[in-house]
Amino acid sequence: MISSKGITRIAAPMNPKWNGQFSCFDLVAKSDACSRSVVQVRDIEIGGNDFVVMAGPCAVESEVQLLKTAEAVARAGARILRGGAYKPRSSPYAFQGLGVEGLKLLRKAREETGLAIVTEVMSEEDVDQIAEYADIMQVGTRSMENYALLEALGECERPVLLKRGMTATIEELMRSAQVIAMAGNPQIILCERGIRTFETATRNTLDIAAVPVLKAVSHLPVIVDPSHAAGVRSLVPVLSRAAAVVGADGLLVEVHPVPEQALSDGIQSLTFDEFRGMMLDLQPYLDLLHQCRQLSPQLLAVAGAD
Ligand code: PEP
Ligand code: MN
Repeated sequence: MISSKGITRIAAPMNPKWNGQFSCFDLVAKSDACSRSVVQVRDIEIGGNDFVVMAGPCAVESEVQLLKTAEAVARAGARILRGGAYKPRSSPYAFQGLGVEGLKLLRKAREETGLAIVTEVMSEEDVDQIAEYADIMQVGTRSMENYALLEALGECERPVLLKRGMTATIEELMRSAQVIAMAGNPQIILCERGIRTFETATRNTLDIAAVPVLKAVSHLPVIVDPSHAAGVRSLVPVLSRAAAVVGADGLLVEVHPVPEQALSDGIQSLTFDEFRGMMLDLQPYLDLLHQCRQLSPQLLAVAGAD
């Protein structure tokens, strides 16, 4: 156990193999000089004391859908609203997102709820426009090795949420983070969202070990996306608890007012009630690992009001 800033942490010991494997990514690797970095998003610290939950629909579909979801996830204790305006879909026939109209709705949701915004950027050509609306620029699994995009994000002044490629190793994820940092942007959050394996019962396989490995080898914050890992909503709460216990710094979770009617990823999206229940259940799991780690002050207020 190590203690820093009043937090008791269980640190995965540094394995000599990892040290040799990752220390070449000097800007993102853990070192004596930098063992932990905190990414500041408005008044939210990611990688600090709080467990930061980002939640919202897979895709921005309409004003009513987004605003209702934003209010519900904020009430339940989420700090950041997720929602794709530009969607990288596996099928060319699937809904591709509302584009700039979706970005405007995200901005409206931020004005009405105070939630910060995370949304995906798929192309380096869109970086400047999306940065006008987003607080965090999300790089999706399909783009993790798009170096033109990573370099453009290195020059943008917004934090980057870098998702692990579905067939990428931890080393490749670290390499992509180093590309962004070398291009000038040190504000990077890593995201484990499940990898492709021989298993077909779940959409992807959540590589839960990636969290303590990344926390051991990198100073960057690490969050978990249980929704894309599982592909089914019933597994999202239990995978979220696992993420809390292994030391993740937060979650990225899909929530929809009527998941059956979602234009994308409805099967893995939680209803408002399911999301609220999941949030209320998380605190004891956070307490197992971190003394004084809280979901958010709002959540405690909500819980206390029951
Ligand atoms: C998403 O967050 O909606 C998304 C498309 O995720 P991923 O890139 O992990 O598939
Ligand atoms: Mn999705």
